[in-house]
Amino acid sequence: MSSLQVCGSCGATLGLLEPAMECGCGGLLDLRHDPPAEDGRSLRRLFAARMASAAPCDRSGVWRYRELVLPGVEHDVVSHPEGNTPLLQREGVSRWTGLDHLLLKHEGHNPTGSFKDRGMTVGVTQARRLAVTALACASTGNTSASLAAYGAQAALPVLVVVPAGKVAFGKLGQSLAYGARTVMVRGDFDACLRLVREASARLGVYLLNSVNPFRIQGQKTIMFELLEQLGWEAPDWVVVPAGNLGNTAAFGMALVEAHRLGLTDRVPRLAAVQAEGASPFAAGFAEGFARRRKVAAETVATAIRIGDPASWDRAVRSIRDTDGVVTAVTDAEILEAKAVVDGSGAGCEPASAAAVAGARQLRQRGVMARDDRVVAVLTGHILKDPEVLLEYHRETDPPRPRQNPPVEIEPTLADLERVLHIV
Ligand SMILES: *Cc1c(COP(=O)(O)O)cnc(C)c1O
Ligand SMILES: [Zn+2]
Repeated sequence: MSSLQVCGSCGATLGLLEPAMECGCGGLLDLRHDPPAEDGRSLRRLFAARMASAAPCDRSGVWRYRELVLPGVEHDVVSHPEGNTPLLQREGVSRWTGLDHLLLKHEGHNPTGSFKDRGMTVGVTQARRLAVTALACASTGNTSASLAAYGAQAALPVLVVVPAGKVAFGKLGQSLAYGARTVMVRGDFDACLRLVREASARLGVYLLNSVNPFRIQGQKTIMFELLEQLGWEAPDWVVVPAGNLGNTAAFGMALVEAHRLGLTDRVPRLAAVQAEGASPFAAGFAEGFARRRKVAAETVATAIRIGDPASWDRAVRSIRDTDGVVTAVTDAEILEAKAVVDGSGAGCEPASAAAVAGARQLRQRGVMARDDRVVAVLTGHILKDPEVLLEYHRETDPPRPRQNPPVEIEPTLADLERVLHIV
């Protein structure tokens, strides 16, 4: 069984152990594996059997699908383990979106609290096979939290580059605590990524942003695991928040692959949702992807505060291959969706709520039908961004939808009674 790296733009091929992050033509690389020997039915049985195994590689929600991720690597994986995230049904969220069959795939249940761990376990495993001496990434926060943890596990030094003042506290704290060298740049994420791409080429540190094709392979397993949880019956729609477009790219690849291998009998439609202030891809979709767009990004959802998405071309392929759509939602809609998801007991970070706000909007526009089976991917954990949470529930006039401000009292029964009255 073997794999190659293939340029998505010109089709040139590179060996699996070439550390290059891009082709000579500037295109991004994708991995292409020899198709597995097993047919769809045998693969489904193999994946299911591994859930009952005690081997670490089988227990990971990423490496359980290793034939489709990085074949031939079984020993020596850097795994927490990750994945195995729940698929939730929440009545209040369904009602708010107007979708009767809405499920939430909660990737915030990964070891560092976001889906980034799924790609990172593969990227850092590959880094160790290449015997690199240091790891680096630019990040809006979750990539750095994840890389810091997996780098620590692999005993490799980690450099993370983040936009100063634009990273949620939970994420910044994780990066420091896991021991990454953390550099705050006076600039936005796009500037950070440009800087670290130059540095990796010049200084020989291994880059673990989603331009890295090994990360994309790991992120495909969000879709494999979702399909398996649904008994390999594809839903009608998968909705995902979209920033740098790594997930949008990975999901399209995985859904097409699952169909081609006979794991599922059809391909769901992908809906990528951006924040209005950071929506170059939605603007591109509206004009048939006639040209690549960039914007200066601004949104409360810092994980998708990205103006020049790196995986643009891969993501265009995903939208076309899945008959997908791209849309944008306002920050107010994101915050309301978050309050609904949080209030359901599921909870998520702001960027994740964009998927739920997007599902509601697509239902209202009639793009989705009330009885469509829809899965929204919640990409990160509620505790990632405590500032946005506390700010939202602070007392304001007029109050925000579902606002729940804390109440301060004297330590007397009379005070407590008065408060209970208004509950
Ligand atoms: C990274 C991230 C995103 C954006 O994913 P892309 O693959 O960059 O489009 C969305 N939500 C959360 C919580 C993230 O950490
Ligand atoms: Zn090329």
